[in-house]
Formats: sequence, C-alpha cells, structure tokens
Amino acid sequence: MNDARAAVSRELAAELRELGMREVDIDLYVRLVALGAVRVEEVPVRVRRRLVAAGLAGERDGGTTLYASDPRSSWTSKAAQAVWTQAGKIGPIHNLDTTGVSRVDHLRERCERVSQLADALFVRQGGLPAQHRSATSDPNVLALLTAEAILTAKREIVAVSRTPRLPHVALIWQAITDRMEAGVSYRRLTDFAELLEHGLAIVRRDIYDVGVRLRVLERERYSGSWFIIDRKYLVVQDDLPLAADWRSIGGAVTTEHARVLRYASRFDKLWQEAVDARTVVSLLQREADQLLEISRSAAPNVLPWVRDIIRAGKFTNHASQQEWSPAMVSDLVQRAQQLRVLTTTSDGHVVPAYPSGESVIEAARAGADIAAEEPCPVCWEESRHCQGHPEAAPSGSGTSRSTTS
Ligand SMILES: [Zn+2]
Repeated sequence: MNDARAAVSRELAAELRELGMREVDIDLYVRLVALGAVRVEEVPVRVRRRLVAAGLAGERDGGTTLYASDPRSSWTSKAAQAVWTQAGKIGPIHNLDTTGVSRVDHLRERCERVSQLADALFVRQGGLPAQHRSATSDPNVLALLTAEAILTAKREIVAVSRTPRLPHVALIWQAITDRMEAGVSYRRLTDFAELLEHGLAIVRRDIYDVGVRLRVLERERYSGSWFIIDRKYLVVQDDLPLAADWRSIGGAVTTEHARVLRYASRFDKLWQEAVDARTVVSLLQREADQLLEISRSAAPNVLPWVRDIIRAGKFTNHASQQEWSPAMVSDLVQRAQQLRVLTTTSDGHVVPAYPSGESVIEAARAGADIAAEEPCPVCWEESRHCQGHPEAAPSGSGTSRSTTS
C-alpha cells in the first residue's frame, strides 16, 4: 500500500474507533475494503459474523469468501437508518435536513466521513453470481446481495414482498431510490400488514413523491417474496423454519433465465389481481377518521399518538418525544385496545385497528372508481388533515413525480 492509501487507512480506522467498533473488526474491515476479498478460514469466525451482521461484509462462493460491501451504500444506509428511526424523518438521506437531534446529526456526519474515506480506498468487489446462482441461509448476506443486484438496474425493478422482510431495509431502500433517481421504474406488490406498519403518510410519500408504483394483495393469494431486476437477476427470499419457534430468512440470487422468466410471469399475473394502493389508502383514511373521532371523544391524551401511528406507523417517535415510560405506553396501548382504536401485531408493532381489516382490499377492488386524493406534498396527509402547508394546492403536484399504475 502506498503512503497516501496508508494514511487514508489510518484515518478510516480512527473514525471507526470513534464509532465504537472493536479493534479486531476495524483491522479486518479496513483490510477488506483496501485489499479485497479473503478466504473465510483466514479470519476469526466471530469477527466475520459481526461484519456480516452489520451489513459491512458479505459472503460468496458458497460461503467460502468474505468481501467488503460497497462502503458508500453501507454507511449511507446506516446514516439513513439512524435518521429514520431516531429522529422520525423519512426519505432518501441526501434529501433530509439535519434533524436537530445532536446525537443523530453527529452519527450521520461520522457515517458520511467513514463513507468518503472507505470509498477512496475501496477495491470494487461484490457477491453477485456471474452465472447461475448464489444461495445463502444468512438474511444479512441475502440483503446485501439484493442491494447489489438492485444497483445494477437500468430499466425496471419489480418486487413481491410480504412480512417478514429482510434486515438492512435501509440498504435496500437506498439502492432502490438511487436507481429510481436514474430513471429506473419500480413496481411493488405488498400485503395489508405493511400499510399498517408503515403508516398512511409514509405509504403516500413512497407513491406520490418517490414514484413507487404500489399495489396491494390479500395474503392468501400469494406466497413468497422476490425481486426481479431487468429480467436478469432474480432474488428469491425463503422463509426458513430453523426450529419450532425460530425462523430465519435465506434465499438465492440467480441469473438462470428460465427461472427468472417463470417468476416474471408469476409477477405479471399477481399484478393484475392486486389493487392500486392509492385506492386502498383512501379507504383506510376514511376508517382512520372514525378512529380519530373515537379517540377525540374518549381519550384525548391518546389522540396525537393515534394520529401519529396512523400517519407513520412504526416510524412514529411520539412516545419517546413525550418521554413516556414503557409502563405508561403499555397502559395507553391497553386503553386504546379497549376502545378498538389500536391493536398489536404478532411482531409487537402497535398499529391502527381499522374496522374492515384486510377486506378493505376487496372493497377497493369492487369500487375501483373511488378517486384517490392527491396528498399534501409536505406532510403527505389528505388536505383535510394538512395543517396548512402553502405548497399544498389542491391540484399541485409540487415536487412529486407523476405516478401511473
Ligand atoms: Zn401538509
């Protein structure tokens, strides 16, 4: 390594130390980034597992080779993850202002610094199969392969997904928005549970601002989760039952053409059966108004929280902003459950208890003429819930791209 690269390596190591990474992990990570892949038997198992779990490294060649993931993607997604979950802000990270939460803003700055340093050293490497397939039983490795395949997209990404989903959502989302900004189209099919977990404003923002063409389908009508990228790569996610009470996600990336085409035609068929998420969201908003009405009259202290859960689902940070204790939260959850305003999912997320549940999809299918209202391009609420943003003209598309499904 020449002097300049050695100096950057030292600077990178110092930044990683500041982030609290262990010395052994730093040594291996910097070596992978700067010198390329290594055989797994050359490195301690624990260090390898930690780097993979952190999304900083992946495995390929049947798990025999360890390589560094693209540092720009991995560190940018870490910054995004922090901003989304700790500051309650959502969107492609480069579009987000500083959060005003100094802990989060510092972490973000440091991640950006690490990203730049590592990118300057990075010897390009990746785990995608040149031909045929690459399989893994590690959800972290699969998430990384998925992001790598998405980053190759030139025309279209399609996805079918259902809960549970892969880890490193930020890494995958970052890859998708990166390609969409370059003009790649993204069609996605999902289940009802996701609309609840993400919240209506977040779903609207994905559709109207990011430009995701989103449709919803009843869970019993499909199985499995997969991505197809330019009809070249197919990423299939499998739900692996590892023990009676423990499941994991594994899967494979393949370029086998017959298999890719078979999944592409399955996608086309499901896409026809699925319902435009804009219509479903409009119907859910009407039910949300009923839930808000109940909260307003029966439990006014719960009202702003319910509103935030409807709006932003699991991304809400209302409870932590209010500095509610866990005991208080569980008390309020219980109260809201008694009022049939909120409910908890099997994953422990608190979500709105929409009266019609999943059958709202059938209602939307039957009433395809229901006009979806264009939301406010600032808060992503329908106009009656917008607190008056100047850009929110009724016809205004503001910064949004047009979306057709
Ligand atoms: Zn607004």
